[in-house]
Amino acid sequence: MPIRGIGFRTSQMRLKEKKERLKGIYERFEADALEFKKDAICKIGCTYCCTDVGNVDIITLEGIIIRDRVNGLPQPLKRQVKKKIAQNRLDKEKDKIARCPFLKEDDTCLIYDIRPFSCRQLYSIRECRGRGPTVHRQSTELAREVVKEIQRLDDTGYSGHISFVLHLLDMPGFRKLYLSGGFDPGKIAKFGKPHRLTINRFAR
Ligand code: SF4
Repeated sequence: MPIRGIGFRTSQMRLKEKKERLKGIYERFEADALEFKKDAICKIGCTYCCTDVGNVDIITLEGIIIRDRVNGLPQPLKRQVKKKIAQNRLDKEKDKIARCPFLKEDDTCLIYDIRPFSCRQLYSIRECRGRGPTVHRQSTELAREVVKEIQRLDDTGYSGHISFVLHLLDMPGFRKLYLSGGFDPGKIAKFGKPHRLTINRFAR
C-alpha cells in the first residue's frame, strides 16, 4: 500500500481545521441572529425554503462535508439520494424550480445537522407563500457578511448551487486538486462558467 506523504497529511489537517472554523462561524451566526430569529414563524414540515426558492448556494467546503455524509449513507438510501442530486442538477440546468434533493418524503431535512449556511440564514416572520420569506434587514446584512467570511475561509474553493458544487466534487481531477489545497480556476472554467460558480477568492 502506498504511503501518503507529508503534503497530503498537511492538507488534510488544513481541511479539518477549516471545517472546525466553519462550524464556529455557524455557531456565531446563530448567536448573533438569535434576536431576529426569535420572531420567526418557521416550523418543522414547512418546506417553502427547500422547494420554492431559487438556488441553495453552498461553498465547496460545505460540499465536501455533505458529500462525505452522502457517501456514508446505507444503501439503497445512498443510491436514491445520489439520483435525486443528479435530477436536481438536470432540472436546475433548465432553470426549473426544483425540490432540494435532501428534503425527505416527510418534509424534514436529511442533512439538517450539517445543512449549509444558505439554509441556516433563512427564516421568515410572515407566511412565505406567494411572497417569499420576510427577513429582518439587519439579519440579511449579517448573513451577507458571513457569506463573505466563509468564502474567504474556503479560499481555494467555489460557491454555487448545491447540486452543481456536488457535481464538481464528483470530478476526480478537481476533488484531488481541492483536497490537496491546490487552486486552478482555469481547470473548472468549462463547468464553472455555464453553472455560474463563483470563485471564492475573487468574491466580493
Ligand atoms: S439542505 Fe435541508 S434545509 Fe437546506 S434546502 Fe435542502 S432540505 Fe432544506
